[in-house]
Amino acid sequence: MVKEYKGHKFKSGKFVTPFNELLTQLGKEEQWYLGRLPEYMWLALIFDSHPREKAMILIQDILQELNKFLPDTIMQPKISYILQLNEEKQQDFYQYLSSKIEKSVLSPLTIIITYSISRPFSKYFSNKDEGIEDKISKLESTIQTFSSQHSEQTTDIRYLVFYYIQLRNKIIMPEDQSELINQYPDLTHNNHLMPLIRPMVRNLEMMSTNFEENPNITYLEMFWERMSELTDCELFSVQFEIEDALDKKTALENCYKELKYFTDLFHTVSPLDHKMLVLLGLSTFSYKRFLELIEHNLYNTITGRNVVRSLIENYIMMKYLILRESEKPNIWEEYQYYGLGQFKLITERYEDTGDVYPNSHVEYKYLSLIVEEYKGKDFIDMDLNYFDRHNIKTKAEMVGESNLYKHLYDYDSIYEHGLWGAIRESSLLKCNTASHQFHCVPDIENQQKLKSVWHDCHLLMQKTLNILKELYGYPSHLEVKGK
Ligand SMILES: [Zn+2]
Repeated sequence: MVKEYKGHKFKSGKFVTPFNELLTQLGKEEQWYLGRLPEYMWLALIFDSHPREKAMILIQDILQELNKFLPDTIMQPKISYILQLNEEKQQDFYQYLSSKIEKSVLSPLTIIITYSISRPFSKYFSNKDEGIEDKISKLESTIQTFSSQHSEQTTDIRYLVFYYIQLRNKIIMPEDQSELINQYPDLTHNNHLMPLIRPMVRNLEMMSTNFEENPNITYLEMFWERMSELTDCELFSVQFEIEDALDKKTALENCYKELKYFTDLFHTVSPLDHKMLVLLGLSTFSYKRFLELIEHNLYNTITGRNVVRSLIENYIMMKYLILRESEKPNIWEEYQYYGLGQFKLITERYEDTGDVYPNSHVEYKYLSLIVEEYKGKDFIDMDLNYFDRHNIKTKAEMVGESNLYKHLYDYDSIYEHGLWGAIRESSLLKCNTASHQFHCVPDIENQQKLKSVWHDCHLLMQKTLNILKELYGYPSHLEVKGK
């Protein structure tokens, strides 16, 4: 379930520098939104205020008139070129425009093109009856509508730009192509020819940018700067449905019951069995992580992903040790030595340097006692490669669980290492205000919840316990029905 989060207002910053650099990094097609839409906002506003068919005819008329005003060297109907005309010419053109459209159509633009920028524009189109909030929201929604360079509406505007270029300069095209293009304003978007024509239109409009030397950075900067000053951030987060708590309680009780059975079996039948100790130890570690997940309601958290990863790792390790057992019968003891050897390194460092962090969570003295349990055992002839946890991918393949690795573990590792994808998903919110150029805001209010890890953790816990069931059997009368 996806829901927009509204209501938490952040003060917006400025989104414009260094604009020139930003534009040149983008391809011509991608420059549409940042670099061309602001110039054609006036056409977009007119277009948006009329039914499509009427808008196409109306704007073509307007462009024919504009053709009489702009100097011959200008190929595109950009507002910044109109604003460069002298006041008299501007006045005449706006007068003509006023005879074709309502004043309120272009009035939102007067909050960008203010009196100090163009007296005639302000004179013809400022509309005192309309509040500034309404004007801003009209601009916002227009930017939103035309933000995608490929949408049908945007293609309509791009057609009109191309139409103007054609007025100025005879474009030489193959006959069949120009025949198709000329049909564009008369065809509806669901006409079967349109999927063919729309890309042609966009391509021609894009190529037309080659006719001008540089975009008018001053105008673009002013446009985006003004828009970002006027609008607030609207942050967007994804929410998920809350799952049934009762299912979880039952699942946890079942896991406990099963694990209890194997633990009792271990106690009474084979308390010195290294294999069973290792497998039960790994299962219990997973179980405790599973328990923490449930008790602390961590399903939708970053920590939850860490739990999934840990359950996968333990599960694969269990299967892996069983697989290699035949060629290395004392693998169960060596696996324990290997792990304790890691602890030994830590305690040795402590002995070398003393207490560096007196209040740390590492309990050196207790670790030493644990390591002591194996004093006198031979640590020397160990093949470390057997147990190295870094090689989990290979191990997953060996035990036929590469899907767990490919589809879950790898993703959770991105969280474990704090790589950017994880940070973007969990800790940054996208601002949905179109004029803010879709920037991100740090989620310090903790609004973004992540999709629940419950189903994966439950599945992994069952798979883990199934290993024990297959090895040691599980009385059928204890099995939960319908599972
Ligand atoms: Zn914003």
